Amino acid sequence: MKTVYFDSAATTQVRQEVVDSMQKVLTECYGNPSSTHAFGRSAKTIIETTRKTIAKQLNALPQEIIFTSGGTEADNMILRCAVRDANVTTIITSPIEHHAVLHTVEELRNEYDVTVEFVKLQDCGTPDYEDLERLLTANDERKLVSLMHVNNEIGNILDIKKVATLCKSNNALFHSDTVQSIGHFEWDVQDVPIDFMTAAAHKFHGPKGIGFAFIRKNSNLKPLIFGGSQERGFRAGTEPVHNIKGLETAFVLAYQNLDEERAYVQELKDYFKEALKFAIPNVKFNGNCDDKVKSTYTLINVCLPMSPEKALTLQFQLDLKGIACSKGSACQSGSGKGSHVLMHILNEEDQQKPSVRFSFSKFNTKEEIDYVVSVLQEFVG
Ligand code: PMP
Repeated sequence: MKTVYFDSAATTQVRQEVVDSMQKVLTECYGNPSSTHAFGRSAKTIIETTRKTIAKQLNALPQEIIFTSGGTEADNMILRCAVRDANVTTIITSPIEHHAVLHTVEELRNEYDVTVEFVKLQDCGTPDYEDLERLLTANDERKLVSLMHVNNEIGNILDIKKVATLCKSNNALFHSDTVQSIGHFEWDVQDVPIDFMTAAAHKFHGPKGIGFAFIRKNSNLKPLIFGGSQERGFRAGTEPVHNIKGLETAFVLAYQNLDEERAYVQELKDYFKEALKFAIPNVKFNGNCDDKVKSTYTLINVCLPMSPEKALTLQFQLDLKGIACSKGSACQSGSGKGSHVLMHILNEEDQQKPSVRFSFSKFNTKEEIDYVVSVLQEFVG
């Protein structure tokens, strides 16, 4: 059966170069990086070289990069440590953050005496900058802002420099969940005054279970996980050296080919949009505040004009046809399976329509798009 993978925002296909580099580490560099013999030293070198590679690309310092098990752990770690160690009394976030942020913030609200404020959204779903400024200037509380750079469900892109500068000028700490951004966007942390960022290798063709946190020097955060003194004393435990190598390979390739791959994915997105508009005239595209600014991110979130009854089987029907995409269905949020983002930005009528997230990568083709559009047309029509 023909198979089409249009779910790269959930996770990406691992590059062969990544697999090869990991295999080499698994078979040849199996020493514990904390051991002082040659096997240990070569494992340690892989970790420190990767740290330097990442730091150089982000214009950060190597000691500002801490490896984690992925985006979720990095988000949890930063938010928790910031509240515990940096006298934070108010967290400002948005209702459409990833659950790694929203659930953590909720836990922190229960455990610590912190106030949580939610910034209003623009109609398209991007946080409202004026409302953010209002919240930042409302009182003298010590604030931590957590807003994601690229939204994983609708693809909206935050004006990260504007938000970081706003936070800085109001003496607030700024964390951005950059899990959907690192590996897809250029970053310069000397230009963007951000305190904390988070990343996951599996979003840019690397392995699962490895990511990192950027924690700006002098943030004074203390460890959350104790044990050996790995990860610069900040996160204990033997590092997954093969995963760190895979992360490095994927990271280097992502930035080497950034412009080329982004242009290709944009071309696919434009092609998909046009084909879909032609095949299903009433299709509605969600997100994107400003159509003049071409989104450089990899996903398209659509509401399809069909009855809720038919919508219930949509995902299943697409799966039967070999098509992998993601449910973004507002009407199924009650079951915990759909998009919580769309609940916040769609009107009641559109909330009843099924929404689907299609997300692309360099491995996709226009032929695949033709196939998916023809299946959708048949099913929706
Ligand atoms: N934040 C965002 C924006 C994400 O898309 C994801 C992955 N779905 C995460 C955090 C969690 O990352 P991980 O799966 O690596 O824990």
